Amino acid sequence: MRIEMRIRLYKIYPKPVTNHIYEHLFVTTMWRYFDSKGLINGIDYSYTATAFHGGLICLDLDLYSLDAQNLVPQISKLNVSTDKNSLISAITEVCAENEQRFSGNQSDLDALENDIAVLNSITWDDIENTEVITMKNIKLHKNGDLSLKDMASSSFSNALMSVSVASDFIKHNKSLVPLIKIIQGLLVRRLGYEVIPETLGWYAYDFTTDQAASYVHLHARKTAEVDASVAMRACKKYLKTYITDEYVSDLQSKLSKINADTYFNLDHYGLYEDHNIIFGQKYLQSTDVLSSIDTVLENIVVKVSYRGKKIEESLSSRLITK
Ligand SMILES: [Zn+2]
Repeated sequence: MRIEMRIRLYKIYPKPVTNHIYEHLFVTTMWRYFDSKGLINGIDYSYTATAFHGGLICLDLDLYSLDAQNLVPQISKLNVSTDKNSLISAITEVCAENEQRFSGNQSDLDALENDIAVLNSITWDDIENTEVITMKNIKLHKNGDLSLKDMASSSFSNALMSVSVASDFIKHNKSLVPLIKIIQGLLVRRLGYEVIPETLGWYAYDFTTDQAASYVHLHARKTAEVDASVAMRACKKYLKTYITDEYVSDLQSKLSKINADTYFNLDHYGLYEDHNIIFGQKYLQSTDVLSSIDTVLENIVVKVSYRGKKIEESLSSRLITK
């Protein structure tokens, strides 16, 4: 089909998961709008929408008919609805794509509603009128393609944050390995995707894990005033509040709900390879898990390294059996 008009719009917001949900909401809203004008997807227009890892949302629109082309100004001003039903169906779609379950509660939905309202208020920018998309690890090529900038980019410097426990501790507490992995995974993802981008403007681009630690690799703008100690303060402040207020009860309820298609994608074979031990569901549902959480939390060490400066601090929190 001959393309009459192609426009590429983008928005930036530092919450990739929220962006993905917003992307789904927007596409539905846009589809309904075109539909209300009697325009048909695939005939009058087609589109691709993508929420990128780094916080960039792109909407590529191909407009074949004049009627569709005339609607572009309205399309770019569409607000998505933030009612609970719309949010939940978008969440469900995104969860399905990622083969995950939604385990959020009312306050998660409220927070999402606020974020979506913010996303509504951010205007779509046209890539045509943009010289460089800053703040993101996204490269705009001359042919119009977008790709992740390689790590050696001059506009960014890399930071590394890890949530670990001493390998010696692991060696002597093999039965805690599944919990250690679950706790590390949850903390490092939450920090990388939510806390750090929100408070520092750094953003996560990769997660890795080894026997003792989970890492989040971050990009920081070279001009950022934030140093490693500020990052560490933000992490610790957040972890204390989060763990005290919601983490333990969250984890408790998740552990109690573990079943065959569990929320945690516990890597049993990886654990077996690394630690020669396999854990069944009964282990995770056993009652002594709660005091084990405490033991793990007490031994969690957070490390931040940035611009040659390395900071390491122990979480040393006992929460349940305090
Ligand atoms: Zn999607």
